[in-house]
Amino acid sequence: MRILIAEDDVTSRVVLAEMLRKIGHDVIETVNGAAAWEVLKHPDAPALAILDWMMPELDGLEVVRRVRSLPTDQPPYLIMLTAKGAKADIVSGLDGGADDYLAKPFDPGELGARIEVGRRLVEMQSKFLAARDALAHEATHDPLTGVLNRRAILDALARQLSREQRHPEGLAVGICDIDHFKLVNDTYGHTVGDEVLCRFARTLESNLRPYDFLGRFGGEEFVVITPRIQELDVRTLYQRLLSAISERPVPTKAGQVPITFSAGVKLWNAGEDVDAMLMAADTALYRAKHEGRNRVCLAEG
Ligand code: GH3
Ligand code: MG
Ligand code: MG
Ligand code: MG
Repeated sequence: MRILIAEDDVTSRVVLAEMLRKIGHDVIETVNGAAAWEVLKHPDAPALAILDWMMPELDGLEVVRRVRSLPTDQPPYLIMLTAKGAKADIVSGLDGGADDYLAKPFDPGELGARIEVGRRLVEMQSKFLAARDALAHEATHDPLTGVLNRRAILDALARQLSREQRHPEGLAVGICDIDHFKLVNDTYGHTVGDEVLCRFARTLESNLRPYDFLGRFGGEEFVVITPRIQELDVRTLYQRLLSAISERPVPTKAGQVPITFSAGVKLWNAGEDVDAMLMAADTALYRAKHEGRNRVCLAEG
């Protein structure tokens, strides 16, 4: 593990660094609190730091206070090093945000054991964060295609609409529905249908801008939100999407599966909410289907 030590006393620092290296740690040595703070304030700082209490420039307690005020969900484990045995100092160190303390001169066995406690805590914390992130991803993404799920794309639309109301820059929402998709399932089977859905999502995604949103609305229907767009560009974009899908059959385990889709698109007008946008896009989609599919229709008004 990477460990930062901050200790102004050269003998103590050398001994400490040596002990830590001996038990397999990567040690970053600093000679005062200011230098330690320079390292610890970076997002990729070591996950564990051993800070001497009495140091020039910034003392250990002040470093602890600063580190604890950083906005991060993965704060480092901080051990205070002190020659003072006084209980009051230990209490103020822990109160200030330190996780543990070590009295100098330190015993190698005790040092190793306390580092191990810190390592376990840091590890648990990062596992917990990874699990939290995975849950958040699960809650907002469609498990099959990996794009936003229905709830998340609706949330995104609500947020984009409220932003648009304050700073109108042009916003369009499109519903893209694969044509005769039931036939794909009936002809090739449901798992090939799933492959087609995934590839469809990837192709749309790769033709959108990083700040556009793509979500699965349900079944073979996807919603595209494009902020900062005008009518002319809407037409160009959807023509590009239609061509990207219709010109390249989807390679699947059952061979090449040609597909097309139809889209209904609504450009935002002042006062229109999520429901109004979706209803208008859906009506336009119905028209695109009715007029022969593999096309885009823009909602009127
Ligand atoms: P249209 O051109 O009018 O849209 O015809 P369509 O066949 O695409 O429309 P329809 O609504 O009749 O059929 C949609 C099909 O999508 C039926 C359903 O079985 C299939 N489907 C929905 N979700 C999934 C899925 O997760 N995987 C697969 N393989 N198929 C799905
Ligand atoms: Mg000192
Ligand atoms: Mg369909
Ligand atoms: Mg449909």
